[in-house]
Amino acid sequence: MSTGLFWFTNDLRLHDQPALWKMQSVDKLICVFCVDPQWFRPNGLNAKAMGERRYQFLYESLSDLNKQLQAVGQVLIIRQQTPHSALSELIEMYQVDVIGRSQHAGVYENRHWHLLQQQFPDHQFFTEVSHTLFTAEDLPFAVKDLPGSFTQFRKQVEDLPLPRPMSSPQQLPPPPGPMAIEALSSPVLKKSVFKGGETAGLMHISAYFAADLPADYKNVRNELDGWNNSTKFSPWLAQGCLSVRHLLSRLKQYEQQKVSNDSTYWIYFELLWREYFQWYAHRYGARLFRFDGIKNTRSRRCYYPERYQKWCNGNTPYPLVNACMKQLNETGYMSNRGRQIVASYFIYELNLDWRFGAAYFEQQLLDYDVAANWGNWQYIAGVGADPRGGRQFNIEKQTRQYDPEGEFIRRWQGDIDIIPLDSVDAADWPIMPPPRQ
Ligand code: FAD
Repeated sequence: MSTGLFWFTNDLRLHDQPALWKMQSVDKLICVFCVDPQWFRPNGLNAKAMGERRYQFLYESLSDLNKQLQAVGQVLIIRQQTPHSALSELIEMYQVDVIGRSQHAGVYENRHWHLLQQQFPDHQFFTEVSHTLFTAEDLPFAVKDLPGSFTQFRKQVEDLPLPRPMSSPQQLPPPPGPMAIEALSSPVLKKSVFKGGETAGLMHISAYFAADLPADYKNVRNELDGWNNSTKFSPWLAQGCLSVRHLLSRLKQYEQQKVSNDSTYWIYFELLWREYFQWYAHRYGARLFRFDGIKNTRSRRCYYPERYQKWCNGNTPYPLVNACMKQLNETGYMSNRGRQIVASYFIYELNLDWRFGAAYFEQQLLDYDVAANWGNWQYIAGVGADPRGGRQFNIEKQTRQYDPEGEFIRRWQGDIDIIPLDSVDAADWPIMPPPRQ
Protein backbone atom coordinates (compact mmCIF):
# COMPACT_ATOMS: atom_id res chain seq x y z
CA MET A 1 0.00 0.00 0.00
CA SER A 2 1.67 3.28 -1.08
CA THR A 3 0.69 6.80 -0.11
CA GLY A 4 1.51 9.79 -2.27
CA LEU A 5 1.52 13.52 -1.55
CA PHE A 6 1.10 16.07 -4.31
CA TRP A 7 2.23 19.61 -3.52
CA PHE A 8 0.32 22.16 -5.63
CA THR A 9 2.13 25.45 -6.23
CA ASN A 10 1.70 27.53 -9.39
CA ASP A 11 -0.08 24.70 -11.20
CA LEU A 12 -3.66 25.08 -9.95
CA ARG A 13 -5.38 22.93 -12.54
CA LEU A 14 -6.06 19.35 -13.60
CA HIS A 15 -5.40 19.63 -17.35
CA ASP A 16 -1.85 19.10 -18.58
CA GLN A 17 -0.54 18.12 -15.17
CA PRO A 18 2.10 15.41 -15.74
CA ALA A 19 3.15 15.20 -12.09
CA LEU A 20 -0.40 14.73 -10.85
CA TRP A 21 -1.03 12.24 -13.63
CA LYS A 22 1.91 10.19 -12.36
CA MET A 23 0.31 10.10 -8.91
CA GLN A 24 -2.39 7.80 -10.27
CA SER A 25 -0.07 4.89 -9.49
CA VAL A 26 -0.29 5.30 -5.68
CA ASP A 27 -3.05 3.75 -3.55
CA LYS A 28 -3.83 6.80 -1.42
CA LEU A 29 -3.17 10.41 -2.27
CA ILE A 30 -2.98 13.73 -0.41
CA CYS A 31 -3.32 16.92 -2.47
CA VAL A 32 -2.07 19.96 -0.61
CA PHE A 33 -1.48 23.68 -1.10
CA CYS A 34 0.45 25.78 1.46
CA VAL A 35 -0.44 29.38 2.22
CA ASP A 36 2.62 30.79 3.93
CA PRO A 37 1.67 33.44 6.56
CA GLN A 38 4.92 35.21 5.62
CA TRP A 39 3.35 36.26 2.29
CA PHE A 40 1.13 38.73 4.10
CA ARG A 41 3.84 40.43 6.18
CA PRO A 42 5.98 43.33 4.92
CA ASN A 43 9.30 42.15 3.54
CA GLY A 44 12.63 44.01 3.49
CA LEU A 45 11.57 45.85 0.32
CA ASN A 46 8.60 47.74 1.77
CA ALA A 47 5.99 45.43 0.27
CA LYS A 48 4.21 42.15 0.90
CA ALA A 49 4.65 39.12 -1.31
CA MET A 50 0.87 38.85 -1.71
CA GLY A 51 -1.48 41.80 -2.04
CA GLU A 52 -5.25 41.65 -1.52
CA ARG A 53 -6.19 41.34 -5.16
CA ARG A 54 -3.91 38.42 -5.89
CA TYR A 55 -5.07 36.76 -2.71
CA GLN A 56 -8.63 37.00 -4.04
CA PHE A 57 -7.55 35.47 -7.36
CA LEU A 58 -5.65 32.72 -5.51
CA TYR A 59 -8.62 32.05 -3.22
CA GLU A 60 -10.93 31.68 -6.23
CA SER A 61 -8.38 29.46 -7.97
CA LEU A 62 -8.07 27.19 -4.93
CA SER A 63 -11.86 26.92 -4.55
CA ASP A 64 -12.16 25.98 -8.20
CA LEU A 65 -9.33 23.46 -7.93
CA ASN A 66 -11.04 21.86 -4.95
CA LYS A 67 -14.22 21.44 -7.00
CA GLN A 68 -12.26 19.90 -9.88
CA LEU A 69 -10.52 17.53 -7.46
CA GLN A 70 -13.77 16.50 -5.81
CA ALA A 71 -15.10 15.49 -9.22
CA VAL A 72 -12.24 12.96 -9.53
CA GLY A 73 -12.44 11.57 -5.99
CA GLN A 74 -10.03 13.93 -4.25
CA VAL A 75 -10.03 17.00 -2.02
CA LEU A 76 -7.64 19.93 -1.65
CA ILE A 77 -5.98 20.22 1.75
CA ILE A 78 -4.87 23.74 2.64
CA ARG A 79 -2.20 24.36 5.23
CA GLN A 80 -1.43 27.87 6.51
CA GLN A 81 2.21 27.14 7.28
CA THR A 82 5.55 27.22 5.48
CA PRO A 83 5.68 24.39 2.93
CA HIS A 84 8.49 22.60 4.72
CA SER A 85 6.73 22.41 8.07
CA ALA A 86 3.29 21.61 6.58
CA LEU A 87 4.52 18.93 4.20
CA SER A 88 6.86 17.25 6.66
CA GLU A 89 4.00 16.98 9.18
CA LEU A 90 1.73 15.39 6.58
CA ILE A 91 4.46 13.01 5.37
CA GLU A 92 5.01 11.74 8.91
CA MET A 93 1.38 11.67 9.95
CA TYR A 94 0.17 9.68 6.92
CA GLN A 95 3.36 7.68 6.29
CA VAL A 96 3.71 9.08 2.81
CA ASP A 97 6.27 7.39 0.56
CA VAL A 98 6.02 9.28 -2.74
CA ILE A 99 6.10 13.08 -3.00
CA GLY A 100 5.51 14.86 -6.30
CA ARG A 101 5.23 18.41 -7.60
CA SER A 102 5.60 20.50 -10.75
CA GLN A 103 8.92 22.11 -11.55
CA HIS A 104 9.12 25.64 -10.14
CA ALA A 105 11.52 28.49 -10.89
CA GLY A 106 11.14 30.04 -7.41
CA VAL A 107 14.12 29.93 -5.06
CA TYR A 108 11.78 29.83 -2.07
CA GLU A 109 9.79 26.82 -3.34
CA ASN A 110 12.97 24.99 -4.29
CA ARG A 111 14.52 25.62 -0.88
CA HIS A 112 11.53 23.98 0.84
CA TRP A 113 11.65 21.07 -1.60
CA HIS A 114 15.36 20.47 -0.93
CA LEU A 115 14.80 20.67 2.83
CA LEU A 116 12.17 17.95 2.51
CA GLN A 117 14.46 15.78 0.41
CA GLN A 118 17.17 16.11 3.05
CA GLN A 119 14.75 15.29 5.85
CA PHE A 120 13.32 12.22 4.07
CA PRO A 121 16.25 10.74 2.16
CA ASP A 122 14.59 7.32 1.74
CA HIS A 123 11.39 8.66 0.20
CA GLN A 124 10.72 8.94 -3.48
CA PHE A 125 10.59 12.52 -4.78
CA PHE A 126 9.76 13.51 -8.35
CA THR A 127 9.20 16.68 -10.32
CA GLU A 128 7.53 17.12 -13.72
CA VAL A 129 7.34 20.15 -15.98
CA SER A 130 4.05 22.00 -16.15
CA HIS A 131 4.81 25.75 -16.09
CA THR A 132 6.96 25.93 -19.21
CA LEU A 133 6.34 24.93 -22.79
CA PHE A 134 9.51 22.87 -23.10
CA THR A 135 11.37 20.64 -20.70
CA ALA A 136 15.09 21.12 -20.05
CA GLU A 137 15.70 18.03 -22.23
CA ASP A 138 13.76 19.57 -25.15
CA LEU A 139 16.05 22.61 -25.24
CA PRO A 140 18.94 22.48 -27.72
CA PHE A 141 21.36 23.68 -25.01
CA ALA A 142 21.96 22.95 -21.33
CA VAL A 143 20.12 25.34 -18.99
CA LYS A 144 23.48 26.57 -17.68
CA ASP A 145 24.29 27.64 -21.27
CA LEU A 146 21.03 29.58 -21.74
CA PRO A 147 21.61 32.21 -24.47
CA GLY A 148 22.37 35.65 -23.07
CA SER A 149 19.61 37.37 -25.04
CA PHE A 150 16.00 36.62 -25.91
CA THR A 151 16.68 36.83 -29.66
CA GLN A 152 19.37 34.15 -29.53
CA PHE A 153 17.06 32.01 -27.41
CA ARG A 154 14.07 32.47 -29.72
CA LYS A 155 16.04 31.60 -32.82
CA GLN A 156 17.07 28.30 -31.28
CA VAL A 157 13.71 27.21 -29.92
CA GLU A 158 10.91 28.64 -32.02
CA ASP A 159 10.92 25.83 -34.59
CA LEU A 160 11.06 23.00 -32.06
CA PRO A 161 8.02 20.70 -32.22
CA LEU A 162 5.33 21.92 -29.82
CA PRO A 163 4.79 19.47 -26.94
CA ARG A 164 1.23 18.18 -26.74
CA PRO A 165 -0.75 18.93 -23.57
CA MET A 166 -2.06 16.03 -21.47
CA SER A 167 -5.73 15.63 -20.71
CA SER A 168 -7.11 15.81 -17.16
CA PRO A 169 -7.18 12.61 -15.07
CA GLN A 170 -10.64 11.02 -14.92
CA GLN A 171 -10.09 9.64 -11.43
CA LEU A 172 -7.42 10.05 -8.74
CA PRO A 173 -6.59 7.74 -5.82
CA PRO A 174 -8.63 8.67 -2.73
CA PRO A 175 -7.26 10.45 0.35
CA PRO A 176 -5.96 8.17 3.16
CA GLY A 177 -9.05 8.92 5.29
CA PRO A 178 -10.95 11.94 6.54
CA MET A 179 -8.53 14.85 6.70
CA ALA A 180 -8.64 18.17 8.52
CA ILE A 181 -9.20 20.89 5.96
CA GLU A 182 -8.25 24.37 7.14
CA ALA A 183 -10.56 27.10 5.95
CA LEU A 184 -8.83 30.06 4.35
CA SER A 185 -10.07 33.44 5.47
CA SER A 186 -12.18 34.79 2.62
CA PRO A 187 -10.81 37.86 0.90
CA VAL A 188 -12.54 41.22 1.11
CA LEU A 189 -14.20 40.75 -2.26
CA LYS A 190 -13.40 43.38 -4.86
CA LYS A 191 -15.02 43.68 -8.28
CA SER A 192 -12.66 42.25 -10.87
CA VAL A 193 -12.78 41.28 -14.52
CA PHE A 194 -10.39 38.44 -13.71
CA LYS A 195 -11.85 35.45 -11.91
CA GLY A 196 -9.37 32.92 -10.59
CA GLY A 197 -9.47 29.23 -11.43
CA GLU A 198 -9.08 26.69 -14.19
CA THR A 199 -12.75 26.88 -15.16
CA ALA A 200 -12.65 30.66 -15.65
CA GLY A 201 -9.28 30.45 -17.42
CA LEU A 202 -10.51 27.86 -19.93
CA MET A 203 -13.64 29.94 -20.53
CA HIS A 204 -11.47 32.97 -21.16
CA ILE A 205 -9.39 31.13 -23.78
CA SER A 206 -12.54 29.96 -25.55
CA ALA A 207 -14.01 33.47 -25.57
CA TYR A 208 -10.75 34.99 -26.82
CA PHE A 209 -10.48 32.60 -29.77
CA ALA A 210 -14.20 32.62 -30.54
CA ALA A 211 -14.14 36.41 -30.88
CA ASP A 212 -11.38 36.16 -33.51
CA LEU A 213 -9.10 38.38 -31.44
CA PRO A 214 -5.84 36.53 -32.22
CA ALA A 215 -6.03 37.67 -35.84
CA ASP A 216 -5.57 41.30 -34.79
CA TYR A 217 -3.35 40.91 -31.71
CA LYS A 218 -0.16 42.48 -33.08
CA ASN A 219 -1.96 45.66 -34.14
CA VAL A 220 -3.44 46.36 -30.72
CA ARG A 221 -1.11 44.71 -28.19
CA ASN A 222 0.63 47.96 -27.30
CA GLU A 223 -2.53 49.79 -26.25
CA LEU A 224 -2.54 50.97 -22.65
CA ASP A 225 -6.06 49.78 -21.87
CA GLY A 226 -8.91 47.70 -23.22
CA TRP A 227 -9.88 44.10 -22.48
CA ASN A 228 -9.53 42.96 -26.10
CA ASN A 229 -6.24 44.66 -26.83
CA SER A 230 -4.03 41.89 -25.51
CA THR A 231 -4.78 38.30 -24.59
CA LYS A 232 -5.10 38.79 -20.77
CA PHE A 233 -3.92 35.19 -20.35
CA SER A 234 -1.29 36.25 -17.82
CA PRO A 235 -3.07 35.87 -14.43
CA TRP A 236 -4.22 32.33 -15.27
CA LEU A 237 -0.83 31.40 -16.68
CA ALA A 238 0.99 32.80 -13.66
CA GLN A 239 -1.09 30.84 -11.17
CA GLY A 240 -1.03 27.78 -13.43
CA CYS A 241 -4.80 27.70 -13.91
CA LEU A 242 -3.93 27.46 -17.61
CA SER A 243 -1.18 25.45 -19.20
CA VAL A 244 0.94 27.18 -21.82
CA ARG A 245 1.02 23.93 -23.82
CA HIS A 246 -2.77 23.85 -23.87
CA LEU A 247 -2.86 27.50 -24.92
CA LEU A 248 -0.47 26.93 -27.79
CA SER A 249 -2.34 23.89 -29.03
CA ARG A 250 -5.46 26.12 -29.20
CA LEU A 251 -3.46 28.73 -31.08
CA LYS A 252 -2.24 26.14 -33.61
CA GLN A 253 -5.79 24.90 -34.06
CA TYR A 254 -6.95 28.48 -34.66
CA GLU A 255 -4.18 28.97 -37.21
CA GLN A 256 -5.16 25.80 -39.05
CA GLN A 257 -8.89 26.44 -39.01
CA LYS A 258 -9.18 30.23 -39.19
CA VAL A 259 -6.22 32.55 -39.77
CA SER A 260 -2.48 32.27 -39.53
CA ASN A 261 -0.81 35.67 -39.77
CA ASP A 262 1.73 37.98 -38.11
CA SER A 263 -0.59 38.51 -35.18
CA THR A 264 -1.07 34.84 -34.39
CA TYR A 265 2.69 34.33 -34.66
CA TRP A 266 3.19 37.25 -32.29
CA ILE A 267 1.20 35.58 -29.53
CA TYR A 268 3.67 32.69 -29.79
CA PHE A 269 6.52 35.21 -29.84
CA GLU A 270 5.33 36.77 -26.55
CA LEU A 271 4.86 33.36 -24.97
CA LEU A 272 8.47 32.67 -25.90
CA TRP A 273 9.45 35.75 -23.87
CA ARG A 274 7.67 34.12 -20.98
CA GLU A 275 9.50 30.88 -21.70
CA TYR A 276 12.84 32.69 -21.83
CA PHE A 277 12.34 34.31 -18.43
CA GLN A 278 11.32 30.98 -16.89
CA TRP A 279 14.58 29.33 -17.97
CA TYR A 280 16.46 32.50 -17.04
CA ALA A 281 15.11 32.12 -13.47
CA HIS A 282 16.11 28.44 -13.43
CA ARG A 283 19.55 29.39 -14.73
CA TYR A 284 20.23 32.25 -12.31
CA GLY A 285 18.32 31.29 -9.14
CA ALA A 286 18.78 33.84 -6.35
CA ARG A 287 20.64 36.22 -8.69
CA LEU A 288 17.19 37.19 -9.95
CA PHE A 289 16.83 39.32 -6.82
CA ARG A 290 20.32 40.77 -6.61
CA PHE A 291 20.89 44.49 -7.05
CA ASP A 292 23.51 43.88 -9.75
CA GLY A 293 21.37 41.09 -11.25
CA ILE A 294 23.32 38.78 -13.50
CA LYS A 295 25.87 41.48 -14.35
CA ASN A 296 28.84 42.53 -12.32
CA THR A 297 28.20 46.23 -12.82
CA ARG A 298 26.41 47.98 -9.98
CA SER A 299 24.01 50.68 -10.98
CA ARG A 300 24.03 53.81 -8.79
CA ARG A 301 20.50 53.85 -7.52
CA CYS A 302 19.29 55.16 -4.18
CA TYR A 303 16.15 54.95 -2.16
CA TYR A 304 13.99 58.05 -1.56
CA PRO A 305 10.92 57.07 0.51
CA GLU A 306 8.94 60.09 -0.63
CA ARG A 307 9.53 59.44 -4.35
CA TYR A 308 8.81 55.75 -3.90
CA GLN A 309 5.50 56.52 -2.20
CA LYS A 310 4.46 59.00 -4.89
CA TRP A 311 5.23 56.45 -7.59
CA CYS A 312 3.21 53.76 -5.79
CA ASN A 313 0.23 56.06 -5.32
CA GLY A 314 0.36 57.63 -8.77
CA ASN A 315 1.17 61.19 -7.59
CA THR A 316 4.24 61.91 -9.69
CA PRO A 317 4.61 64.87 -12.05
CA TYR A 318 3.86 62.55 -15.00
CA PRO A 319 0.13 61.95 -15.66
CA LEU A 320 0.86 58.87 -17.79
CA VAL A 321 2.84 57.21 -15.01
CA ASN A 322 0.11 58.14 -12.52
CA ALA A 323 -2.65 56.70 -14.69
CA CYS A 324 -0.78 53.42 -15.08
CA MET A 325 -0.11 53.14 -11.34
CA LYS A 326 -3.73 53.93 -10.45
CA GLN A 327 -4.89 51.30 -12.92
CA LEU A 328 -2.56 48.79 -11.27
CA ASN A 329 -3.74 49.70 -7.76
CA GLU A 330 -7.40 49.51 -8.73
CA THR A 331 -7.37 46.41 -10.90
CA GLY A 332 -4.17 44.44 -10.25
CA TYR A 333 -3.38 44.68 -13.97
CA MET A 334 -1.29 46.98 -16.16
CA SER A 335 -0.48 46.68 -19.87
CA ASN A 336 2.99 45.62 -20.95
CA ARG A 337 3.60 49.11 -22.37
CA GLY A 338 2.53 50.67 -19.06
CA ARG A 339 4.82 48.36 -17.09
CA GLN A 340 7.80 49.33 -19.22
CA ILE A 341 7.05 53.03 -18.86
CA VAL A 342 6.58 53.07 -15.07
CA ALA A 343 9.58 50.78 -14.48
CA SER A 344 11.82 52.99 -16.64
CA TYR A 345 10.56 56.09 -14.80
CA PHE A 346 11.20 54.44 -11.42
CA ILE A 347 14.77 53.51 -12.29
CA TYR A 348 16.00 56.32 -14.53
CA GLU A 349 14.00 59.40 -13.51
CA LEU A 350 13.33 58.75 -9.83
CA ASN A 351 16.74 57.10 -9.36
CA LEU A 352 15.31 54.38 -7.17
CA ASP A 353 16.69 50.91 -6.54
CA TRP A 354 14.83 48.72 -9.10
CA ARG A 355 14.22 45.95 -6.56
CA PHE A 356 11.74 48.13 -4.62
CA GLY A 357 9.72 48.60 -7.80
CA ALA A 358 9.80 44.88 -8.56
CA ALA A 359 8.66 44.10 -5.01
CA TYR A 360 5.76 46.56 -5.31
CA PHE A 361 4.71 44.89 -8.57
CA GLU A 362 4.96 41.53 -6.82
CA GLN A 363 2.49 42.75 -4.21
CA GLN A 364 0.05 44.40 -6.62
CA LEU A 365 0.02 42.32 -9.79
CA LEU A 366 -2.66 39.67 -10.26
CA ASP A 367 -0.38 37.96 -12.76
CA TYR A 368 2.73 38.12 -10.61
CA ASP A 369 5.15 35.47 -11.76
CA VAL A 370 8.55 35.33 -10.12
CA ALA A 371 10.48 34.76 -13.35
CA ALA A 372 8.57 37.22 -15.57
CA ASN A 373 8.48 40.00 -13.00
CA TRP A 374 12.04 40.00 -11.72
CA GLY A 375 13.44 39.12 -15.15
CA ASN A 376 11.66 42.06 -16.80
CA TRP A 377 12.72 44.49 -14.09
CA GLN A 378 16.34 43.39 -14.43
CA TYR A 379 16.06 43.80 -18.18
CA ILE A 380 14.87 47.41 -17.91
CA ALA A 381 17.38 48.20 -15.14
CA GLY A 382 20.26 47.03 -17.34
CA VAL A 383 21.36 44.27 -14.99
CA GLY A 384 19.65 41.45 -16.86
CA ALA A 385 19.30 39.95 -20.31
CA ASP A 386 19.18 43.17 -22.33
CA PRO A 387 22.12 43.33 -24.76
CA ARG A 388 21.57 47.12 -24.96
CA GLY A 389 22.20 47.47 -21.23
CA GLY A 390 18.80 48.73 -20.05
CA ARG A 391 15.76 50.53 -21.41
CA GLN A 392 15.00 54.16 -20.69
CA PHE A 393 11.75 55.48 -22.13
CA ASN A 394 11.00 59.11 -22.91
CA ILE A 395 7.73 59.60 -21.03
CA GLU A 396 6.59 62.63 -23.04
CA LYS A 397 7.16 60.76 -26.29
CA GLN A 398 5.35 57.69 -24.94
CA THR A 399 2.43 59.90 -23.90
CA ARG A 400 2.21 61.46 -27.38
CA GLN A 401 2.43 58.06 -29.04
CA TYR A 402 0.15 55.95 -26.84
CA ASP A 403 -2.27 58.45 -25.33
CA PRO A 404 -2.35 61.35 -27.79
CA GLU A 405 -5.84 62.49 -26.74
CA GLY A 406 -5.20 62.00 -23.01
CA GLU A 407 -8.10 59.57 -22.83
CA PHE A 408 -6.27 56.92 -20.79
CA ILE A 409 -4.93 59.57 -18.41
CA ARG A 410 -8.40 60.99 -17.82
CA ARG A 411 -9.97 57.55 -17.36
CA TRP A 412 -7.52 56.71 -14.56
CA GLN A 413 -7.33 60.28 -13.20
CA GLY A 414 -3.60 60.48 -13.82
CA ASP A 415 -3.82 64.25 -14.07
CA ILE A 416 -5.18 64.91 -10.60
CA ASP A 417 -3.29 64.92 -7.28
CA ILE A 418 -0.06 65.94 -8.97
CA ILE A 419 2.31 67.23 -6.32
CA PRO A 420 6.01 68.19 -6.50
CA LEU A 421 8.25 65.16 -6.36
CA ASP A 422 10.38 66.21 -3.40
CA SER A 423 9.23 68.24 -0.40
CA VAL A 424 12.78 68.76 0.91
CA ASP A 425 16.03 69.58 -0.84
CA ALA A 426 19.39 67.80 -0.54
CA ALA A 427 20.08 69.62 2.76
CA ASP A 428 16.66 68.60 4.09
CA TRP A 429 15.19 72.09 3.78
CA PRO A 430 11.52 72.25 2.82
CA ILE A 431 10.96 73.08 -0.84
CA MET A 432 8.19 75.63 -1.18
CA PRO A 433 5.67 74.91 -3.92
CA PRO A 434 5.66 77.67 -6.58
CA PRO A 435 3.03 80.34 -5.88
CA ARG A 436 -0.31 79.77 -7.61
CA GLN A 437 -0.80 81.92 -10.73
P1 FAD B 1 -0.09 39.57 -23.98
O1 FAD B 1 0.50 40.76 -24.63
O2 FAD B 1 -1.37 39.11 -24.49
O3 FAD B 1 0.99 38.41 -24.08
C1 FAD B 1 0.62 37.01 -24.07
C2 FAD B 1 1.39 36.32 -22.96
O4 FAD B 1 2.77 36.36 -23.25
C3 FAD B 1 1.24 36.96 -21.59
O5 FAD B 1 0.08 36.51 -20.95
C4 FAD B 1 2.51 36.49 -20.90
O6 FAD B 1 2.38 35.21 -20.40
C5 FAD B 1 3.53 36.47 -22.04
N1 FAD B 1 4.32 37.72 -22.08
C6 FAD B 1 4.08 38.81 -22.80
N2 FAD B 1 5.06 39.72 -22.62
C7 FAD B 1 5.94 39.18 -21.76
C8 FAD B 1 7.16 39.61 -21.18
N3 FAD B 1 7.70 40.81 -21.46
N4 FAD B 1 7.77 38.81 -20.28
C9 FAD B 1 7.25 37.60 -19.98
N5 FAD B 1 6.11 37.13 -20.51
C10 FAD B 1 5.46 37.90 -21.39
N6 FAD B 1 4.20 39.13 -16.89
C11 FAD B 1 3.71 38.22 -16.03
O7 FAD B 1 3.04 37.28 -16.46
N7 FAD B 1 3.94 38.33 -14.68
C12 FAD B 1 4.68 39.37 -14.16
O8 FAD B 1 4.90 39.40 -12.93
C13 FAD B 1 5.18 40.35 -15.05
N8 FAD B 1 5.87 41.41 -14.58
C14 FAD B 1 6.38 42.34 -15.47
C15 FAD B 1 7.12 43.42 -15.00
C16 FAD B 1 7.64 44.38 -15.87
C17 FAD B 1 8.47 45.51 -15.36
C18 FAD B 1 7.39 44.25 -17.25
C19 FAD B 1 7.91 45.27 -18.22
C20 FAD B 1 6.64 43.19 -17.75
C21 FAD B 1 6.14 42.22 -16.87
N9 FAD B 1 5.39 41.12 -17.34
C22 FAD B 1 4.92 40.19 -16.45
C23 FAD B 1 5.23 40.86 -18.78
C24 FAD B 1 3.98 41.46 -19.48
O9 FAD B 1 3.86 42.82 -19.15
C25 FAD B 1 2.70 40.74 -19.10
O10 FAD B 1 2.86 39.34 -19.28
C26 FAD B 1 1.52 41.17 -19.98
O11 FAD B 1 1.35 42.56 -19.91
C27 FAD B 1 0.27 40.46 -19.52
O12 FAD B 1 -0.84 40.83 -20.26
P2 FAD B 1 -1.41 39.88 -21.40
O13 FAD B 1 -1.62 38.51 -20.89
O14 FAD B 1 -2.58 40.54 -22.01
O15 FAD B 1 -0.16 39.86 -22.41
